[in-house]
Parts: sequence; C-alpha cells; structure tokens
Amino acid sequence: MPSSPSSSQSRAAVAVFTRDLRVHDNPVLAAAAASSGGEVVPLFVLDGGILPRISPTRRRFLEESLADLDAGLRRLGGRLVLRSGDVVAEVCRVAHEVDAVEVHMAADVTAYAHERQDALAAALRAQGAELHLHDQVHTIQPPGDLRPNDRDHFSVFTPYWRRWAEIPLRPPATAPHLSVPDIAGQELPVPADGESAGGLHGGLHGGETEGRKRAKQWLDKTVDEYEDIHDDLAADATSKLSPYLHFGCVSATELAARAGRDHPGSGAEAFLRQLCWRDFHHQVLSARPDAPHTDLRPRGSWRDDPDALAAWSEGRTGIPIVDAGMRQLAAEGWMHNRARLITASFLTKTLGIDWRAGAAHFAHHLLDADVANNVLNWQWVAGTGMDTRPNRVLNPLRQAARYDPAGEYVRRYVPELADVADAGQVHEPWRLGESALKERDYPASIVEVGGGKVGKRVDEPGEALF
Ligand code: FAD
Repeated sequence: MPSSPSSSQSRAAVAVFTRDLRVHDNPVLAAAAASSGGEVVPLFVLDGGILPRISPTRRRFLEESLADLDAGLRRLGGRLVLRSGDVVAEVCRVAHEVDAVEVHMAADVTAYAHERQDALAAALRAQGAELHLHDQVHTIQPPGDLRPNDRDHFSVFTPYWRRWAEIPLRPPATAPHLSVPDIAGQELPVPADGESAGGLHGGLHGGETEGRKRAKQWLDKTVDEYEDIHDDLAADATSKLSPYLHFGCVSATELAARAGRDHPGSGAEAFLRQLCWRDFHHQVLSARPDAPHTDLRPRGSWRDDPDALAAWSEGRTGIPIVDAGMRQLAAEGWMHNRARLITASFLTKTLGIDWRAGAAHFAHHLLDADVANNVLNWQWVAGTGMDTRPNRVLNPLRQAARYDPAGEYVRRYVPELADVADAGQVHEPWRLGESALKERDYPASIVEVGGGKVGKRVDEPGEALF
C-alpha cells in the first residue's frame, strides 16, 4: 500500500533519471527532494533493452551526459547512483534497499515507455511503494493536455500552436540540496574516445554544462537571425540543441522562457515555433503510440527497390544535394533540417520507397534520434502524417538552388565535386558531361533528370515548411 506523505517525510525517495539528464529545472528531482526532506537516491539505470541499439556517437553523448549529471548532483550534495539491467527490476531493488515509498520519474510517450511505466507502477505497488510520474519534464506542455473539442489530440499544427502559445509556462523547478543514503552503485562509464558529432561549428559533447553553454550562446548571439538563416544549408546556423533536448540536458521549458516566450522578437518567435513542433509531435505520439509502424493517413503501396535504397543511404544517388545530406549524416551523425526534408522527400516521393526504411536509417545514425520527432517528421514528408498538403513534393534541384545557391554545402560534403566552380554545375553535374563524371567517380543520377522525374515535379509555390 502506498503510504501517506507524512509517513514518507523522513524516508529517502528515489529520483529515476531517464532522458532528463539535468539538475536545473528538473521537476522529478525537485519533487523527490520535496517529498523526503532532501534524502534522495538519484538513480540512472543503463537499460539493457535500449543500450545495444544505440550508435557509438550517441552512446558517447549519453556517457558524457551521465558524467556531467554526476558532477551537477555532487555540487548539490549528492551523486549519481548507476545500475544496469532491467529498469523495473533495478528501480524496485533500489527502492527496497533504502526502504523508499516514493519513486519519481518523468512520463514519456513511446509505447515502450508506456509499458515500462505501467510495469514499474505495478511492481512498486506490490512492494508498498508508489510511482509518481511527472508529465512536464520532456516537453513544455504535457502531451495529453491540449485537445481540440472533438478529439484526443491535435492533428494539425497551426491550431495547436495557437493554443500552445496562450498557455503560461510552468514555473521553473529549483535544484534542491541533496543527501544520498548509503547505497552501492556502479562506476560511471568512461566516455569512449572518438569523433564528436556536429559540423561547421565544432563537435557536440554531451552534458548539461555543455548544453547550457550552447543555449546561452545561441540565445545571446544568434537567435535574432534565426528566421532569416535557419534554412541556409551552408551557414549551418541553427541552434544544434536537439540532442541536448532529446537527452534532457537542457530543459525545453527553460529554453522557451529564456527565449522570451511572452515577448519574443521575430527570431525568437520562429525558434519557439520549432520548440512547439517538438511538443506537437510528442502529443501525437502519445495519442498514437503505433505511429512508428502505422501510416497515420493511409496511402497506396511503396516500391521495393533495394538498389535505390542503398544508393540513397550511401549518398550515391547522383543528385548532389541529396548525396551531401546523406554523407553529412554518415560523417557527423547530424544533418541540417533542410537537408533532412530534401533527402526524406527524395526517398519517399521521388523514389517511392517506404518512409519506415528512411526513418530506421536516420534513427540509427542521428545523434538527436528521437522517436516522436523522427517518425512524425518522416510521416509528414511522406504524406502519411500531419501535413495538410500530403501530395507536395520537394524538387531537389529547386531546393538546392534556393537553399544552397552558391553550392557550398554540396562542395563541403561531396569531395568529387569540390573543385567545380560553377554553382549550377555543382547541383547538376551531368552538365559537365558523362566522361567528366566518370573521371570524378561521381555516379550518374539514379532517376531521370531534366525532362524526367526530378525535373518535372515542382515545389508548391510559396511553400512554408517549418
Ligand atoms: P533548431 O532549428 O535550432 O530548432 C530548435 C529545436 O526545435 C530543435 O532542437 C528541435 O528540438 C526542435 N525542432 C526543430 N525542428 C523540428 C521539427 N521539424 N520537428 C520537431 N522538432 C523540431 N529532430 C529531432 O530532434 N530528432 C529526430 O530524430 C529528427 N528527425 C527528423 C527527420 C526528418 C525526416 C526531418 C525532416 C526532421 C527531423 N527532425 C528531428 C527535426 C529537425 O530536423 C531537427 O530537430 C533539427 O534539425 C535539429 O537541429 P537544431 O537543434 O539546430 O534545430
């Protein structure tokens, strides 16, 4: 039986960290400390079900984030207790070891997270403890809170954004003073050596300290220009905060507050809109946990073409703007948002290949891989999701001319074309002639160009994508 709050006053509480790896504005940590007078076990369980599936770059980012979280907790008087294995079993074991009756954790939206939460709540109940789930940790607004009158979630972004922008932000959670009861934990893993992810502006290292530094620099220096530069592929000047948001090294709510949500300039407003897209996708996934597998808007069949899929994955389609994006992903674990749109549209709309294949490739390689954002952006581009114009196609040549007008982005990631001076030829290298392409070992386009598929399809005029 869960005990009353008064009986838990002097007993330690457990704060389970999942992807909220921070001490600032962390409602889980604050609530655990408030319920126990500061006697808390800050626990992270290396989940045996997830770890084997993540890429080395992502694993390193996670390990760096755990080391930094431990340092942050030590500054508050505590430390991170690390266990590994099955999350439900380990959390129950720790709660039993310190005789805790309260366990606090962030609620999450995937089917896997739902199952884990339900199993944990039941297992804790059976040993006389209670699981407290906090639903405003990962997102700014709780995923199930904003609803239209006739449905359990918004399926169109603009009305969601209007409602979202009206709701006040929750107050920030204060980082508490802590003391940790005597309990054993494993050594923290030492982050592996290797290239950190990220491009032009240097590598992305995990951790709250690094995330807060990056957020501050971004808000102090660049956010005002965001509206004008966010689509410029070569400038690569977006915030690069997505991995920090995914792992919770930075609080989305704090970021929104600092971006001046109630009185933003036009750059900050455009940035807030992107944070709102993130909330939007989380609320869709929460209502539709089958979205990683199921078309939200059914469409006809997909083409099975393993050669084309391989050419796309390897960045050898012969369409330079597509190849540049795919090679950036392979080299850096990162891809500019505009390139994500172009490469995803090329796979699904031009090649007619199932978005699930593309989403799986992105999920494996992206440092910021996030089920809600990845799957629902893919469904949006593929026309099976929330786009109100599901038939739109992004013509890669027009996108290249618009968002990489000097050809710099392509030259940076496609060395075969690095010395082509003319921007038009960089984007349409077949204009150099067949033998020149062969000499450079750059492939001919896998789809017909010019009077064919790529050339004929056009972007919708005046399109405003994200
Ligand atoms: P900024 O432009 O600085 O935006 C700030 C923040 O807003 C981002 O960090 C992110 O959290 C959020 N955001 C921005 N754009 C979107 C969007 N379209 N949808 C949801 N949130 C957004 N983002 C991920 O975090 N993980 C993914 O796995 C992912 N997969 C994607 C797959 C495809 C096919 C597409 C088209 C987009 C995907 N995105 C994904 C969204 C977007 O590309 C990235 O969030 C963005 O490029 C990250 O760079 P940034 O932090 O510099 O973004």
